[in-house]
Formats: sequence, structure tokens, C-alpha cells
Amino acid sequence: MKERSDSLTLKGLIAAQSRLSTTHPMVSTLASKQSIIEAGIGGEQRVVEVLQKYRFPFKNNIFHDLSLSSDTNFQMDHLFKTPYFGVILETKNMSGSLEFRDNPPQLIQNREDGQIKYYESPVVQLERNMELMSAWLSQRNIDLPLYGAIVLAYPKQHVEIPPPTTKILFPNLIPPFFKSLPQEGKGLDNAAFHRLSKELLTSHQTYIPKPICESYQIPVGDVLPGVRCVNCGKIGMIKLPRTWHCPSCKVNNHLAHQGTLVEWFLVVKRTITNSECREFLGVDIYTANRILNGMNLIGSGTYKDRMYKMDFRKK
Ligand SMILES: [Zn+2]
Repeated sequence: MKERSDSLTLKGLIAAQSRLSTTHPMVSTLASKQSIIEAGIGGEQRVVEVLQKYRFPFKNNIFHDLSLSSDTNFQMDHLFKTPYFGVILETKNMSGSLEFRDNPPQLIQNREDGQIKYYESPVVQLERNMELMSAWLSQRNIDLPLYGAIVLAYPKQHVEIPPPTTKILFPNLIPPFFKSLPQEGKGLDNAAFHRLSKELLTSHQTYIPKPICESYQIPVGDVLPGVRCVNCGKIGMIKLPRTWHCPSCKVNNHLAHQGTLVEWFLVVKRTITNSECREFLGVDIYTANRILNGMNLIGSGTYKDRMYKMDFRKK
């Protein structure tokens, strides 16, 4: 029903790498960030699979990768809700042996290659999310007890020191944990339960990442311009009247500029001017004008200062 919050980041990272020279000093940084995000997506996918297979003996909804805002913005990997309670799951994907330290809160990873890494404790993240979610619910006068757990998504994770009070689960332990939670009181009635689901979905905000060049201080001039072929992925389609032509695979596509402009917004800048568009797509002023006005972008300013922005939330 909604896009993952880090899918745009991932798209930007992949596009940026293909538009930098292979010897560019930032390529390896972008590649390792890409694999961290992919591991995270893989881990959350395992949780999704377990929950999809399981039939719970009570009414429930599951929301994956939900971004809401109460006192501040917050993002939950998974929210499971029944008429009686809600559960927030925080997924972690780390190999090796893990120590959850309490004072100060910290997660220490002893990797198989001997490296030791220190992270913010997921217990702190989980507690913050539970507070923010409680606030979100009470702002709407909804009375629903909340629980939380940390899920270790990969079997190669070993917990040396667990946190003192927070539940740690492997994916297959999630359903029994949900079933063990108390179902007390009247719970939400049907109408309230569905209203809450609807409100969670409409309140969800797609996360719009900063363009890669901004996040990683990459000079715009390092980014290879040109329209990417939608068929073979090569950059360098040629503008013909009313269409684009790929010299590599010979395919024509009249909308090829659209994906390339999305790459501009994810990789280079949040905004684009007519002259930037001309340079990036390799077109003249009139074609650039027609393209920018034909893509449902948000325009601002006039004449030479006119700028366009993509509304990723509406896409
Ligand atoms: Zn091609």
C-alpha cells in the first residue's frame, strides 16, 4: 500500500554509483551504504514472511515501515495491532555476537572477523518509538496498550548479553510472543479498530532523502549527465523528434526523460532549472521547457529564476 521509506535512498545510491566514474573516491562509500540498506530490507522481509504465513486466532493488522509524527517524526519497522494491544517491532540485522549494555545504553557487536563495533542501543530506539506512538494514540483519544520487542532477523546473530527488560525475538518466535500478550478489557470495537487502521495509513509520511550529492558532498560536476535507456540501462539516449533513441540497444522510448529526471532529484538536487535540465538531458531550451512543464512538477519563480521540484509524496 505504500513505499518503503528507504527505497528512495536506495534508488538514489544505485543511480549515483552508475553516474560516477568507477575510480571516484565516493563509490565505495555509496556501495557499502547500499549493502547496509539492502541487509535491512532483507531482515524486515523475513519478519514480513513469518507474519504473512501465520494465522492469528484474533483480529489483527500489520503495518510495515510506518513513519508517523507526534511530538516529532518517528519510524517503526513493524506495528502489529489487535483490538486489545499494539506491538512495535524494531528489526536488527547484525552478524556476530551482540551485547546489549544498559549503563550507558549501547549495543556492542563482536564480529566474526574480530572487529568490535559500537551502536546506539536499539532498546533506546524502541522505547522512544513506544513513547511517541503512545503520544500519537492519546492525541487521538485512543486507548490501546503498547508492547515492544527487538527482532534479530538473521540466524547468525548470537546474544551474549541480553537487555535486562526488553524482549528479544528471532522471527519464528514473534507469533507465540503476540499470542502470549494479555487481551484485557473491552478492547476497541470494530468501528474504532478500522478507523485506527485508516488513520495510520493516511498519517504515514514517505521519507524523502536528501540528494546523494548533498549528503555525501559530491561535486555536481562529477555526475555523468544523459538520459538513461529504460531498456538496457545505459546512459546516453539521443533525442529524436517526439522520442528518445538508445544507440546501444536501438530501442526508442518517448518517456525516457522521466526516469532520468527522477534520478536528478535523488542524486543531484531537490530542484531543477531549465538550464540544468538542458545540460542534464542534453536538450534545447524549448524541449526542456516542454519536459519540465509536462511532468507534474511543482514550479516556483518566474522567467530565468523558474525552478521545478518533484513531489515524491504524490508520485
Ligand atoms: Zn538501451
